[in-house]
Order: sequence, then C-alpha cells, then structure tokens
Amino acid sequence: MKIILFFIFSPFVFSCNSTKSTTGPKKTNVDYANTITAQDLKKHLYVYASDEMEGRMTGSKGQHMAAEYIRNFYMDEGIASPIEKNNYFQTIPSSFFEGRRNPESSENVVAFIKGSEKPDEIVIISAHLDHVGTDKDGNVFNGADDDGSGTVSILEIAQAFQQAVKDGNGPKRSILFLHVTGEEIGLYGSRYYTENPLFPLENTVCDLNIDMIGRIDPEKKNNPNYIYLIGSNKLSQELQDVSTEVNKKYTKLELDYKYDDPNDPNRFYYRSDHYNFAKNNIPIIFYFNGVHEDYHKITDTPDKIEYDLMEKRAKLIFYTAWEIANRDKKITADKL
Ligand SMILES: [Zn+2]
Repeated sequence: MKIILFFIFSPFVFSCNSTKSTTGPKKTNVDYANTITAQDLKKHLYVYASDEMEGRMTGSKGQHMAAEYIRNFYMDEGIASPIEKNNYFQTIPSSFFEGRRNPESSENVVAFIKGSEKPDEIVIISAHLDHVGTDKDGNVFNGADDDGSGTVSILEIAQAFQQAVKDGNGPKRSILFLHVTGEEIGLYGSRYYTENPLFPLENTVCDLNIDMIGRIDPEKKNNPNYIYLIGSNKLSQELQDVSTEVNKKYTKLELDYKYDDPNDPNRFYYRSDHYNFAKNNIPIIFYFNGVHEDYHKITDTPDKIEYDLMEKRAKLIFYTAWEIANRDKKITADKL
C-alpha cells in the first residue's frame, strides 16, 4: 500500500513544489528605497548623536566609538570592506593632521558593494563621521544634523543596496560608502582619501556627499518639502539631469539651487568633503538643508530632527545613486 500510494501522490508533490518555488513580481528600486525608514534613521541617530560619543571630535575616544558603530553596522549587514576582510578603517596617521595642536591619528570608515557588470566604475556616497567635541564645561556637541543625519542616511542607503544584492538585483557599478573623518577641522578625511584613493580616481564616477539633511532652514518653514543641491551641474550636466529626473519620478522634493549662485557669500561649494572630489574633476552633488539656529551649537540634538523629511531626502539620494550605478551610459564630467 505504501509503495502504491507513493507513486500515486508523487506527481502531486512535485507540482506543489514547483508552484511554491515560483517567486512574486521582481522587486524594483522602489521596494529597496522603501526599506529606508524614518524609524530606522531615528533609531541609529539617537545612538550615533548621543552624549556617549562625546561630540566625535577627530582623534578622540568618542570619534573612534562612532567609527566602531559604523563598522559594526556594515559587519552585521554583511556588507564587505574594500580594504581587507573585517578591516573597514582607512587609518590616517597623526602626521597628516599637520598644523593641529596635539594631532591624533584617526580613520575613515569604508564599505563596498561590488558592481555586477562594471565593477571598476565606482560611485561614492559620502558623509563626515566627526563633529566638534565638547565645550570647556563638558557640554557635548551632539551634531545630530551635522553630520549624524548624513551618516545614518548612508547606513540606510547601504542596507537598501545590500537587500538588492541579496535578491540578485545588485547594482551594475560598484558603490563605495565613505564615512570621512576630520571634516570639521578642515576636510582632512576626504583629502586623505583623494590623495590615497582605494580605487583610481579616474574610475570614480561621482561623489554624492551628504552633510546636514535632517532639519529645516527657517526660511523654508512654510514650505519644508525641499533640499538644497549644490554643485550638481558644475562638472556634469548629465549628473544634474539624472538627479532631476529621479526626483520628478519618485521623491518630488523642491530642488533648490540658490547656493549655486557664484556670488553667494557662504561659498558652501568649498565647505564640505565633496570639494576634494570636485577639485579632482569628479562630478559631485552636495545635499544640504541649510543652516539653522542649532548649527554648531550644543542644541543640535536628535529630538529636533525631522525624520520623515530626512527619509525622503535619503530616498532621493538612494534613487540617484541607483540610476547612476545602473544606467547604460556612465556619467561623465561633460562640462569640463
Ligand atoms: Zn558638517
């Protein structure tokens, strides 16, 4: 009886199995973007910008703790280092911080997703991991917006790309997640990277640099659905066009270019880490919310962050990186 039953039922069992193995509709960039959530950004930022990190002054104990937090995230997510297994730190010797009083060594933190078709072409997403430490009374500059917001956004963007890799939809070009140190004391980490690049600069497609995307400029309080983009067409019109298209299709933020005005006295184009890439003729976009009353004050704390807006801005950066990494034609510095 058993044997007979086995033969009778076996075709049914096989057909059942084949039905089960059929997957649902192929996941898209929208599915991956939707893994970037206000809730996750908030969870990370309350740790990253906590008092325990002591304001993340370059070379300090708190800054090294911050670097470890970032490293541990990538290890937990199974996102590799481009340096060697389990070593995510590009160490910068103290001698590089020339002119600083009591310079200490520091580190950039790097993680890497290798492209499936054009692995030698590198898209960089960057943010600075350091901040300005504590004041003489021991009050902590938490730097939740500056640049905790950029840091935790990269973590969420990396996780979204890693989910795509797990599903067999990984990016065609490679992506380097670059957390640079020493920004606040003079853009040291990004300069160190561009002078000691892990991949040739001539193969570096662009740098999408995030520095402060969690707050609202007081001037924009009645229309907060915005982000300032700086330098997006300075070297590459193609780069700005991609950014405009994905925003129109997916995120629908107001893209405000007012700081591209060459007469703007703030000169923001020269004031964050993308500049070290731009001066090497690598196209860049600088994503920025503008300054506000808590900028470089001890009151730049995680409770003041607009998490839903930050999620939307992080998604814009994800969609832009996704398009640049996957489109047939490589972005070039077409305005040089
Ligand atoms: Zn900053």
